[in-house]
Amino acid sequence: MVLTDMEQLEAWIDESDNIVFFGGAGVSTESGIPDFRSVDGLYHQKYDYPPETILSHSFYQKKPEEFYRFYWDKMICLDAKPNQAHIALAKLEQQGKLKAIITQNIDGLHQMAGSSEVLELHGSVHRNYCERCGKFYSLEDILPFSATQNEDGTSRTPKERVPICSCGGRIKPDVVLYEEGLDNDTLTKAVSYIRNADILIIGGTSLAVYPAAGLIDYYRGERLVVINLSQTPRDTYADLVIAGKIGQVLAEVVK
Ligand code: NAD
Repeated sequence: MVLTDMEQLEAWIDESDNIVFFGGAGVSTESGIPDFRSVDGLYHQKYDYPPETILSHSFYQKKPEEFYRFYWDKMICLDAKPNQAHIALAKLEQQGKLKAIITQNIDGLHQMAGSSEVLELHGSVHRNYCERCGKFYSLEDILPFSATQNEDGTSRTPKERVPICSCGGRIKPDVVLYEEGLDNDTLTKAVSYIRNADILIIGGTSLAVYPAAGLIDYYRGERLVVINLSQTPRDTYADLVIAGKIGQVLAEVVK
């Protein structure tokens, strides 16, 4: 009997208790958060500077006001809720089938869906630190700085939208900007999970951002699955490629 790709994926998931998921911004587009490289993604919108420039360490240092203008407007989506992809992956973990989610996303939606082993390669908008004294701030703590108007209705200046600690230091989101390195412990754990996985499911990522995308080279198994709307550089090496919306695909195969 010849199985369809969806039946094949479902059969592999049924047989495994060591699945690892590696994902990116495409996992959250069905939650209304734009990705970078889709046609309606942030790279196809017009700004004074390209998004890669704004989201770089040197730009953040030189122009924190411009950085935060983009950050508040484009990177923070307060209304976003987990979609079918996040929910299906959380379910697989609860069933003891999925060992870890390795994500390039910074939105915290996997945890909101109930997943516990989530390795955030690029950090999280939910953690923020004072650059001077190191004090921790949640996203809620610093949200008042995102407002465009003061309580009296007057407009806030770009400078007033840069979060400042009670000590006077500037607060930086714990997200990995371009030009910054990834956390070593997170990388080591990610490599270990991928190396030992029997199924590696890659989804919702263009695999264009390194070193994150290079992690999948550590996979040694024979069940490499790619679920993505557009082609990826790994499609030719994958054992199964499903071109589709990841939320729809996972909702269909995870029971
Ligand atoms: P990317 O924008 O480069 O690629 C997204 C990929 O997902 C594209 O190939 C697209 O075809 C695919 N895609 C979009 N919607 C999909 C869906 N519903 N189902 C299946 N595939 C879908 O994103 P990337 O590879 O993650 O790399 C860019 C960087 O973007 C990462 O470093 C990440 O930190 C950052 N980012 C994160 C968020 C977030 O946290 N939600 C949002 C935007 C960007």
